[in-house]
Amino acid sequence: MTAPIVRNLADLREMTRVWQRAGETIGVVPTMGALHDGHLSLVARAKEMSARVIVTIFVNPKQFNNPEDLENYPRTEHEDARKLERFDVDAIYVPDGPQMYPDGFATNISVAGLTDVLCGAHRAGHFDGVATVVTKLFTQTSADLAFFGEKDFQQLQVVRRLARDLDLGVEVVGCPTIREIDGLAMSSRNLLLSDQARSRAAALNEVMEEMAEALGQGATIGDLLPEAKTRLTAAGFSDIDYLEMRTNDTLTQVEKATKPARLFAAAYMAGVRLIDNIDVPLAR
Ligand code: AMP
Repeated sequence: MTAPIVRNLADLREMTRVWQRAGETIGVVPTMGALHDGHLSLVARAKEMSARVIVTIFVNPKQFNNPEDLENYPRTEHEDARKLERFDVDAIYVPDGPQMYPDGFATNISVAGLTDVLCGAHRAGHFDGVATVVTKLFTQTSADLAFFGEKDFQQLQVVRRLARDLDLGVEVVGCPTIREIDGLAMSSRNLLLSDQARSRAAALNEVMEEMAEALGQGATIGDLLPEAKTRLTAAGFSDIDYLEMRTNDTLTQVEKATKPARLFAAAYMAGVRLIDNIDVPLAR
């Protein structure tokens, strides 16, 4: 069934008020659109866990540190609505700019610590933009549950922190990364790659998987980095923003996999910034 597309907050509130009065849980899946199977896995989880599901589509200007990136970001609303049909969601919330950031908007939500590293260190203001829009989306939708992908693991931890710190009353549910057959993590940004760049991009996950296996056998990051970087460069990746192992909870950098940790990477393929992260088995 085609879900109603709701563009303004007053209309959304009218719907959520009725659901809340009926005691129905509201699950929210925040996205920036250009939906793929990764997003849809979140929607499926949301349907399992919530009586009502709202998918939000908003390309949030505040989380783009690069104006060109914002301009090039794929926008496929019509297609997105079609892909959501089979899930029978209750609303697709597509707020227009002023709905989110009315004239004079002056508030910024900033989560300390977790945002100093990885993407936070390379994308000035990115996580403030994420934290601000997510807080607004949670309050606008009256969410009880919210579904986020491990694909953006740092974002997931930042959102968990802010939901707890601000008593937003939202349970944040993390969902596993969905990948293409060659291992590349699904991402709206993959649409920006040429066929050749797209097939070369699979090297990122391939190299990371091999590193994770060696780390599980007791290797240190220092042992593995030189060869990993050489292989990524040979595959066509240019700048590697980071390739690091960090603990799951506090994102503290570690050399050996002696605590639950993940391997995190961000690198550019043909001018497109790709990120990935995978679980590292505890070192034997
Ligand atoms: P985005 O539209 O990129 O902002 O992503 C919206 C949500 O979908 C975020 O919670 C992402 O972590 C999640 N997501 C994006 N790609 C994937 C993927 N390949 N697998 C699982 N979740 C994903």
